[in-house]
Amino acid sequence: MARKLLLTHIDVPGIDTLEVYRRQGGYRAVEKALKTMSPDDVVEEVKKSGLRGRGGAGFPTGMKWSFLAKPDGVPRYLVCNGDESEPGTFKDRFLMTKIPHALIEGMIVSSYALGANTAYIYIRGEMMPQIRIVERAIAEAKSAGFLGKNILGSGYDLEVYVQPGGGAYICGEETALLESLEGKRGNPRIKPPFPAVAGLYGCPTVVNNVESIAATVPIVNDGGEEYAKIGIERSTGTKLISASGNLVRPGVYEIELGLPVEEFIYSDEYCGGIANGKRLKAMVAGGSSVPILPNNLATKTAKGEARLMTYESLADGGFVTGTAMGSGGFIAFDEDQCIVRNTLNFTRFYHHESCGQCSPCREGTGWMEKVLHKIEYGHGDIADIDLLWDIQRKIDGNTICPLGDASAWPVASAIRHFRDEFEWHILNPRESQTRNFGLAHY
Ligand code: NAD
Ligand code: SF4
Repeated sequence: MARKLLLTHIDVPGIDTLEVYRRQGGYRAVEKALKTMSPDDVVEEVKKSGLRGRGGAGFPTGMKWSFLAKPDGVPRYLVCNGDESEPGTFKDRFLMTKIPHALIEGMIVSSYALGANTAYIYIRGEMMPQIRIVERAIAEAKSAGFLGKNILGSGYDLEVYVQPGGGAYICGEETALLESLEGKRGNPRIKPPFPAVAGLYGCPTVVNNVESIAATVPIVNDGGEEYAKIGIERSTGTKLISASGNLVRPGVYEIELGLPVEEFIYSDEYCGGIANGKRLKAMVAGGSSVPILPNNLATKTAKGEARLMTYESLADGGFVTGTAMGSGGFIAFDEDQCIVRNTLNFTRFYHHESCGQCSPCREGTGWMEKVLHKIEYGHGDIADIDLLWDIQRKIDGNTICPLGDASAWPVASAIRHFRDEFEWHILNPRESQTRNFGLAHY
């Protein structure tokens, strides 16, 4: 059985309450940090752990914390990004629903490490049940003396507030989130300055994902070195994966980083294989914002090595730089799924969610949607494939925030790996509505 750090007690009845959470050892990290460690000690443990941001970018958490500016007399803030909206990603919602005190405990030790006396949990506005659950957990923690003034007699004060999100995907981008938290329209800001220097109300701010913050609890309890022993190379610890699509057992799984993709898809401990006896056609490992990989590259790299669930191994054969682990939104497509239709679906989403500040994203996502629509509905021309390629190239890297890149990558990888399927749609306009594409990609 794989080791679990976040979901260990998930099946204990009443684990969402303070009483049961404490009975399972909850709030030990707060006692340890506030009574026996300095804030810098906590930062040091998080650095040693190798923890990387679990929201999608994989930026080292300890390094981000050490970038936090500390001018005298200026407040610092911790903001938890719970605006989980990436298509195929639902692990933060799961964590907040099932074990909200893990987040609250992480908020306390993280705020203590950063010297923040006020912290916000920004939760996607549609997630009303989770907003209520987290608010109730905050009230319980406060009445037990884990929040408020002079926590556990340490002299440290902290208030944590929940802010419902603004109802747009872009509000999950950290600077758009800060704008929204300030009561403005959620438009991304140009970086730098990074929030660590000028964040909420212009003050130094750390924005961390729900799972990243919860992960600081086992790091403080067991020490950063112990945490770093789990996983592989620069991908340490455990990671929550939201698994969806044509799988026998979709759901949220906690994996040790470094797990082979093949084991994740096919073993009974995880997804149990492809549903209805079908075969895997393609997968995305990190929500809709990462490249799609065909079956022959899903479980093996281009060099024939086992593909692992790590930040590095899930990159798309070097076409896009950076990670494709993303937020851990793992979507499996079986042999009957249409890649063109799926790409149109993703692109329509990005077009709808573009905030409109940058021309390449505002116009480009709309153009891509139109061209894909043409191809999907049997009115395409072979030249449209190159046009589509050209448009995504002009968006990628030319926008204020990663939504632009995210809209380009699925299109690029779909054309790169499934060009024949685009051609088939164009050359067979009448049948283009038929959804069985066989196993052309094996
Ligand atoms: P990013 O690489 O720009 O930044 C990562 C983090 O590191 C940020 O907090 C940033 O402030 C910090 N950082 C980077 N360089 C820094 C520096 N020099 N000084 C101080 N801080 C620095 O990426 P991002 O825009 O935060 O996130 C993009 C990712 O978000 C994508 O990879 C995507 O997978 C993911 N995403 C997730 C969801 C979701 O629902 N979980 C939704 C959309 C996108
Ligand atoms: Fe807005 Fe798109 Fe530009 Fe991001 S890339 S700032 S979503 S227009």
